[in-house]
Amino acid sequence: MSLDSKVPQGPLEQKWSSHKMNSKLINPANKRKYTVIVVGSGLAGGAAAATMSELGYKVKCFCYQDSPRRAHSIAAQGGINAAKNYQNDGDSVFRLFYDTIKGGDFRSREANVYRLAEVSTNIIDQATAQGVPFAREYGGLLDNRSFGGAQVSRTFYARGQTGQQLLIGCYQALEKEISKGGVTMYPRTEMLDLVKVDGHAKGIVVRDLTTGEITTHAADAVCIASGGYGNVFFLSTNAMGCNVMAAYKAHKKGAYFANPCYTQIHPTCIPVSGDYQSKLTLMSESLRNDGRIWVPKSKEDAKAIREGRKTPLDIKEEDRDYYLERKYPSFGNLCPRDIASRAAKEACDDDRGVAPTGLGVYLDFKDAINRLGEDTIRARYGNLFQMYEKITGENPYKTPMQIFPAVHYTMGGLWVDYNLMSNLQGLHVLGEANFSDHGANRLGASALMQGLADGYFVIPSTIAVYLAGQKPGAVTTDAPEFKEAEAAAKEHINKLMNIKGKRSVDSFHRELGNIMWDYCGMERTKEGLEYALKRIPEVREEFWKDVRIPGDADELNAELEKAGRLADYFEFAELMCYDALNREESCGGHFRGEHQFTEADPEVQDGRTQAGEAKRHDDQFSYVAAWEYQGEGVQPKLHKEELVFEFVTPSIRSYK
Ligand SMILES: Cc1cc2nc3c(=O)[nH]c(=O)nc-3n(C[C@H](O)[C@H](O)[C@H](O)COP(=O)(O)OP(=O)(O)OC[C@H]3O[C@@H](n4cnc5c(N)ncnc54)[C@H](O)[C@@H]3O)c2cc1C
Repeated sequence: MSLDSKVPQGPLEQKWSSHKMNSKLINPANKRKYTVIVVGSGLAGGAAAATMSELGYKVKCFCYQDSPRRAHSIAAQGGINAAKNYQNDGDSVFRLFYDTIKGGDFRSREANVYRLAEVSTNIIDQATAQGVPFAREYGGLLDNRSFGGAQVSRTFYARGQTGQQLLIGCYQALEKEISKGGVTMYPRTEMLDLVKVDGHAKGIVVRDLTTGEITTHAADAVCIASGGYGNVFFLSTNAMGCNVMAAYKAHKKGAYFANPCYTQIHPTCIPVSGDYQSKLTLMSESLRNDGRIWVPKSKEDAKAIREGRKTPLDIKEEDRDYYLERKYPSFGNLCPRDIASRAAKEACDDDRGVAPTGLGVYLDFKDAINRLGEDTIRARYGNLFQMYEKITGENPYKTPMQIFPAVHYTMGGLWVDYNLMSNLQGLHVLGEANFSDHGANRLGASALMQGLADGYFVIPSTIAVYLAGQKPGAVTTDAPEFKEAEAAAKEHINKLMNIKGKRSVDSFHRELGNIMWDYCGMERTKEGLEYALKRIPEVREEFWKDVRIPGDADELNAELEKAGRLADYFEFAELMCYDALNREESCGGHFRGEHQFTEADPEVQDGRTQAGEAKRHDDQFSYVAAWEYQGEGVQPKLHKEELVFEFVTPSIRSYK
């Protein structure tokens, strides 16, 4: 039986408004009797906490940073999409909806995506009213640029700091509510477990990261907005602290994890340069508005560059392969991320990569600088160019940037229905932590849109659907479930502290990350995934025998924090591999080597696609895979939400 997504009936464009009209409300005097826990203070959690408090709910908001203002959302560079159609270039709510469904390779839920496109316009109004300094044109109107997978300009931006500026707006709203007493903020506090009472999510267990004290908190509902899990690969563009703990612990308590294998590999990151690295740096997709991606046409030229005998400037125009423009003339350098990443891998597999490791391609601004002048390019991307130069020592105004794909975003997450509630009653999931509206591939500038849509506009309304059926304050931390969960969390920490082994947490994390990158990364195969499923438990066992965590549990202990997060990644990595193994097709960021078009396919012969492109199997896999936990090391149980396409017809995704 298909999971019930609770999508309202009726025409697509009226579903959200009629759902709000038909849903139960809680009157203002009663709202203040309800307490809601929000785990996360990024754009999704921060927006949700501030808005629910404004509505009158009592909110307890948790984050592990020293300030909510430092949530990972602050890293977002390029922009946020909205169907404002300020450019009058043919954009509309329906076009944004269509681009997102197609960009996600027809693996997302239509009604949610339409709602996302619909509220996208409100987000820009909200942020502008908060004073977010979006870039403006000469005449004073908000400016736009283009991101991948779209042929219109709908991306609003604040230089290369869009996430930071949006988060400052959100943080101001949150601080206002904190000062009014509506939100109690718990910084430097990590959720260790979810507490369930009579099958409903009613609280959490947390650790104070400065004192090590473990306590519990009860509420009428819990919202998890804890971000993505890209760091399972060790190296990613995510902040070092990003982790899967909150979502995975909820999964272990019964929440289904949907499409965990859908990972986004971003095409434009600074290539890995050595074993000492613990972090990768993104070069925003916005750069693809003006930068042109190429590798040398000949392997000899590429080799000469790698060996330092030639520089990119020595390669004549006619000897360069602008492979995205050649393969995808309509979208060119602005084709979606999954496609651009695979094309870069293909060029490097063909021995035409240019970094010293052979894993790099060029992003070149020569033509844009000739056309627009260096000042214009500096005004558009100055901080990104500066960051690139600081890291690599090369001046991108003079020589092309070297880039290569890296793990960036996770489309998978806890399964939620139309109300953003998981299959566990009372547990709501927002932002990157839910399985989201992006299907198998997220389009650039759509994560900020989704996080803020969830936080400012969706959950403040849909939380009442659940709360209206609950007696406020009925559960307190006196319930035995809280004592049990607290004791289990303490035991888990004691177990970690008592290993007293020899290897550092990072060395284990790097080993796990290498397995995941090699076998569950840009290209997956049955054989590789089966190997990973054999290898991960072996390394996990080694971790539990030999990890070294210096210091004590009752003090600030960064190694203990990392070890706790890694322990979850070790289990979660297996879940990802099971999902990737089950999905015997290629779609979006999930590319199975066995499932790609070949010259023999009629779709290639009639020109609808090209050999080597991802091959979906809609007849078998047009569903969301939602996994139920069955115990450590045990294969999880698969539940399906069948995807129904009423308004868009799935087709071969072409960007030619
Ligand atoms: C370098 C970079 C650039 C990007 N640029 C863009 C862009 O231009 N446009 C775009 O749309 N998207 C972009 N993205 C993606 C986007 O930034 C993220 O998807 C989005 O910000 C996630 O927001 P969030 O609120 O869901 O989670 P986050 O911002 O990751 O916040 C998570 C919150 O949860 C808290 N938390 C996590 N676990 C726990 C726990 N166990 N206990 C307590 N608290 C916890 C954290 O403290 C934090 O407050 C970018 C991503 C990266 C890495």
